[in-house]
Amino acid sequence: MKPELLTREALRAFAEKHRTAFEAELKTLVEIPSISADPSKKPDILRCAQAAAQLFENYGGRAEVLETPGNPLVLGRFGDDPSLPTVTVYNHMDVQPANEPEWTSDPFAFTVEGDTYRGRGTTDDKGPAVTALFGALAAREAGVPINIKFLWELEEEVGSPSFAKGITVHKEKLRTHAIVVSDTVWITRGKPSTPAGLRGLKGFRLTLETADHDLHSGVVGGAARNPLSELIKVIAEMVDGETGQVKIPGFYDEVVPPSAEELENWRTSGFTVETFKKDHMIFGMRTEEPLEVLKRVWGMPTMEVHGLVGGYTGPGIKAAVPPRVEAKLTCRLVPDMDGDKTIQRVKAFVNERFPDVDFHVEHGLAPFKGHTTGPYAEAIKDAYAFAFGAPCAFTREGGSIGAVRTMEEVLGCEVYFLGLSLPSHGYHAPNENYDWEQAGGGIAAFARYFQTVSTFKG
Ligand SMILES: [Zn+2]
Repeated sequence: MKPELLTREALRAFAEKHRTAFEAELKTLVEIPSISADPSKKPDILRCAQAAAQLFENYGGRAEVLETPGNPLVLGRFGDDPSLPTVTVYNHMDVQPANEPEWTSDPFAFTVEGDTYRGRGTTDDKGPAVTALFGALAAREAGVPINIKFLWELEEEVGSPSFAKGITVHKEKLRTHAIVVSDTVWITRGKPSTPAGLRGLKGFRLTLETADHDLHSGVVGGAARNPLSELIKVIAEMVDGETGQVKIPGFYDEVVPPSAEELENWRTSGFTVETFKKDHMIFGMRTEEPLEVLKRVWGMPTMEVHGLVGGYTGPGIKAAVPPRVEAKLTCRLVPDMDGDKTIQRVKAFVNERFPDVDFHVEHGLAPFKGHTTGPYAEAIKDAYAFAFGAPCAFTREGGSIGAVRTMEEVLGCEVYFLGLSLPSHGYHAPNENYDWEQAGGGIAAFARYFQTVSTFKG
């Protein structure tokens, strides 16, 4: 082993030496429009899987394209010594559609402007994936004694419908001691952050039908029921529209408030309300107190009304009493809430007060509670500090990544995040980009992480 190869200077030199190769490999992947939401792009998905497998082989790894009931998974492997620790890096190779008119260049042409790489998938998530690969190559070159696996999914952007089945079937090949996901966004440049919790999600629909067709409000109005008004009343009894407070009894019972240490991490994460509002183009907020915003987005559950369907929506007014309406809602869940239990509480509340409103339960994702202490958490902290010269904050994410809980459960190991994207990279947005500062730093961070974890005893 040549540990001198893993100094900060040596890793910077390694990254610079491989920069051309890094860009070429990223270009190959970005220029394949692997849009999982578009069924007509299935051939590109398969082409992307082949290109990804080829990439591992180009650098001396072994690769397999694993079948699932949906899009395949790609497994890349470096090292296969059962006496050594094994760590797995998860990324995804599928991308969001790119039909926004604001794109200033072809989203599926990889463009380089100085240190910036533009194109769909550059930051979400092909850039971080290739970064992790070069981090592994640096560790390999230095002789770090560790087995490294790469698990690359191709349907993350559509909610990972076949991921659980896929990794269950291929569980033996995926055996690992720890998983690192590199698909998250820092709060701001120069200040690494890693989520130690994700919210879950549970959806439901309410429907109410009180007549066969549109009724004349002059002829029947006053006597006939109005399902639209009634459903608005149901919603208003479930959630306070102004404060967001959910009024279902017991809704907040399982919510564990963030610890003092977590709150301190959130406070120093680099978050500002001004940037938050600007990034999301928000006109008004329920609170503008920074920590309160974070508590609400990362640490509290919600009930959100997404749509109310029914009644007349054309120009002007049609004086009709609508016959049927539908409301579409979801709850974001935090650790340690149970989606089924939550939905049963909501359903019981609706059934009791509004017995003829039909309640339809929709899909769900469980919340995830990560670890902020222990050797693997320390290894993440150390990798960021080593590579970027700044301490990292353990934050959370308000959104949900289905694959995280699935990997934890099926593969029976802890999941951590070593993300490299920035808010300015435009996740899911036009002119998506990634940059060499994050890639070069990321290569060093991954190499350092692999070195630290190589000293762990399984
Ligand atoms: Zn992603």
